[in-house]
Amino acid sequence: MPMIPVNEAPRGVAIAEPTVKEHSVDLLIVGGGMGATGTAFEAVRWAEGKDISIMLLDKAALERSGAVAQGLSAINTYLGENKADDYVRMVRTDLMHLVREDLIFDVGRHVDDSVHLFEEWGLPCWIKKEDGHNMNGADAKAAGKSLRNGDKPVRSGRWQIMINGESYKCIVAEAAKNALGEDRIMERIFIVKLLLDKNTPNRVAGAVGFSLRDNTVHIFKSNAILVACGGAVNVYRPRSTGEGMGRAWYPVWNAGSTYTMCAQVGAEMTMMENRFVPARFKDGYGPVGAWFLLFKAKATNFKGEDYCATNRAMLKPYEDRGYAKGNIIPTCLRNHMMLREMREGRGPIYMDTKTALLTTFATLNEEEQKDLESEAWEDFLDMCVGQANLWAATNCAPEERGSEIMPTEPYLLGSHSGCCGIWVSGPDEAWVPDDYKIKASNGKVYNRMTTVEGLFTCADGVGASGHKFSSGSHAEGRIAGKQMVRWVLDHKDFKPEFKETADELVKEIYAPYYNFLNGKAASTDPVVNPNYISPKNFMMRLVKCTDEYGGGVGTYYTTSAKLLETGFYLLDMMEEDSKKLAARDLHELLRCWENFHRLWTVRLHMQHIAFREESRYPGFYYRADFMGIDDSKWKCFVNSKYDPATGKTTVFKKPYYQIIPD
Ligand code: AMP
Repeated sequence: MPMIPVNEAPRGVAIAEPTVKEHSVDLLIVGGGMGATGTAFEAVRWAEGKDISIMLLDKAALERSGAVAQGLSAINTYLGENKADDYVRMVRTDLMHLVREDLIFDVGRHVDDSVHLFEEWGLPCWIKKEDGHNMNGADAKAAGKSLRNGDKPVRSGRWQIMINGESYKCIVAEAAKNALGEDRIMERIFIVKLLLDKNTPNRVAGAVGFSLRDNTVHIFKSNAILVACGGAVNVYRPRSTGEGMGRAWYPVWNAGSTYTMCAQVGAEMTMMENRFVPARFKDGYGPVGAWFLLFKAKATNFKGEDYCATNRAMLKPYEDRGYAKGNIIPTCLRNHMMLREMREGRGPIYMDTKTALLTTFATLNEEEQKDLESEAWEDFLDMCVGQANLWAATNCAPEERGSEIMPTEPYLLGSHSGCCGIWVSGPDEAWVPDDYKIKASNGKVYNRMTTVEGLFTCADGVGASGHKFSSGSHAEGRIAGKQMVRWVLDHKDFKPEFKETADELVKEIYAPYYNFLNGKAASTDPVVNPNYISPKNFMMRLVKCTDEYGGGVGTYYTTSAKLLETGFYLLDMMEEDSKKLAARDLHELLRCWENFHRLWTVRLHMQHIAFREESRYPGFYYRADFMGIDDSKWKCFVNSKYDPATGKTTVFKKPYYQIIPD
């Protein structure tokens, strides 16, 4: 077995000639975040006694994987006393109207059940006491209070509730693990691509990937497959540099695998032009929600002005066409106003933590003041420890001075205030327009199935339906899990077969290893070599291109047809060079494939931006050549489809239907 010579000691697990393991299951779950754990939990329930084999694959460890890995201090989707109709209205307003109202309503009517399960599984949720004061989750639990029993949550906003959430993901993962059992979970397995069936067109049949802990390529045959591997991060140059480079708002390990793997087998994509540019505490990327909502803080320019008030006139053209209503301002338009301040020299922008805390302090006794101060710190400690470190390192006392906030680099996702993703079927119910239902070749409709038969997705994977957050992603996973079991039962006779041989797949997956072995003699520096490119260098090239030509922070999120054209030229060259990616260890093999997934995802994002000739999301991105919103041409979805047979991507319009009246 050829190994890397000892004088080039590999970092991490050594790479070597792999062995192959083939597996056959009925229902395969790729991913381990909130969506996938929801899918697992529900699929196990519906598969009970039905002789259905299930396997969940996670590239990391289920206990701390996905976007909720570090924890959260709030659950941002809990309907409680609200109606699902109003939830749809809120999401529609925030995402500039172009959303799938059927999918959002469907999440809205199920989401609270997931939250109640989390509480049952041990998640401490804050409870509002009768005297109007807050009881934190631990105290509420000790006092036997519970949301399911009708106790009132502590709402930070209309949709958000406070939790003691540093172990949120551990708790949800534990429930999925208990449901599945150890034998139905494989951790540290990275899936590189899906495989189509050899005999039935447009039918998913399996997936192939590799272990990050030993040199094994794993090939899975499956009847139904769910892909829920999160959104895409580090597809744009991050604001952080040097040693902080690995810092981002959304998890750096979300590499666009969901979008790329589904697109590559021909799944129709939707709203890939959408992106999310969150305003965050600068450098630490700390969350702002609790500050804006719970502490009622204002964001100000350097003069201390609330720029959302001073710039109100900027909203007029959007308000006139129903795009902002009263105090409901879409997230992108809030950014739009902040960016003007920055461009015109009224930055830095601050979160006015001092006024917010002092105003609340005035109503509290000393002990309550201490509690409030620790809540402010805990908000970071729960979900973004780095921000608390930064506050400590810069002597920041939030009650004495504000902290800078900044719009981040763009992220591609479908669960927060963003909605790019995959086109899926809605529920098979009379109120759902036919165009929103995907009819499988057996004539049936399977909720959350993509346009590829047998392929499902949820959470960040589902396009045109944002604001699911952690709880909605779990609920949507459960919806998909139930439907996948139905699919398997309806297709019991299906025998998956691949066009590719196991040997061909191994050669393809391990190509970066062979590139390294064959090319390394050409230079003494293992990462600078005329024969290959390292995954890190590949990513630097990628983010430089997207930043400059695809509307990154370097151009204040502005691009145009011509800039995009140059970007596509460079990205196509990168696709050519991706064949030369090299891996010196298993960790780098992972990075090679992740960056390949990033390339495909971000190119799709830019292709959709090129097609939509308007600026639908001012503050998230601008088409300098089409600055306004043009409802006459663009009040529709933009969808795309890659044809695996020809290698061509087509981008096209799809009608939007308003289901819930204003
Ligand atoms: P974040 O901390 O930004 O992830 O946001 C948490 C929650 O607060 C989400 O439901 C956001 O939509 C909401 N949110 C954040 N900032 C604001 C704001 N300025 N106004 C209204 N809602 C917000």
